[in-house]
Amino acid sequence: MTGAKLIVGNWKMNGLMADSRERTEKLTAAVAKSTSGSFHMVLCPPATMINAVSWFLKESAIRWGGQDCHDQPPGAFTGDIAPEMLKDLGCDFVILGHSERRQHHKETSALVASKAKRAHATGLVTIICVGELDAERSAGKHESVVAQQLKESIPDTATSDNTVIAYEPVWAIGTGKTASGDDIKQMHAFIRGKVGKMQILYGGSVKGSNAREILHTANVDGVLVGGASLKVDEFMAIAEAS
Ligand code: PEP
Repeated sequence: MTGAKLIVGNWKMNGLMADSRERTEKLTAAVAKSTSGSFHMVLCPPATMINAVSWFLKESAIRWGGQDCHDQPPGAFTGDIAPEMLKDLGCDFVILGHSERRQHHKETSALVASKAKRAHATGLVTIICVGELDAERSAGKHESVVAQQLKESIPDTATSDNTVIAYEPVWAIGTGKTASGDDIKQMHAFIRGKVGKMQILYGGSVKGSNAREILHTANVDGVLVGGASLKVDEFMAIAEAS
């Protein structure tokens, strides 16, 4: 695939008012000054910060999204967030099936598909995360694990306009380890064979120093960035490596 790369920042459970304002103001200024037209940037702050971040980003080219949503319309689900609520705050995107939610909240692929279907109905673009555990890769099961996750997590409402896939090997998230260039190339080609024209992002300890190689690997249409998205210089270095 060709075209501008999609650079998505996942702030995870980080962000209070003061640091979020400072970070987004610096980032907005840096993106405005950037001469590289080769990326689209999206920020996914925690739910508590989406409203404020939407105001900070209003005049910028940066879009925003949620880190999760419920699979039901607004109603009696204490503590949860319906896709309509994300839309109401100007979100264009929602991350679904992140490995931290699959692991800590026991989210299944079937639930991810159900959430994605509801998110599509409200007009959100879903970023559906898949990826194998360390032990699954060591056992040579990485392709079958990812194939199963893709099959079960992508609903029948998915198109290349409303769905982006993020391949995030679980052992590479927040660990400082990245998959090798050959592993990324092989897995993204494998995923391409399953999802056709959908954009495919890589995620897992992406930083300024490894972004160029990753972003210029075949079938890598962008990156999903956790830790490094909290540091403006590092995140900009990733975007400018597009
Ligand atoms: C992520 O949160 O999706 C992620 C890839 O995190 P990190 O970049 O910190 O590994």
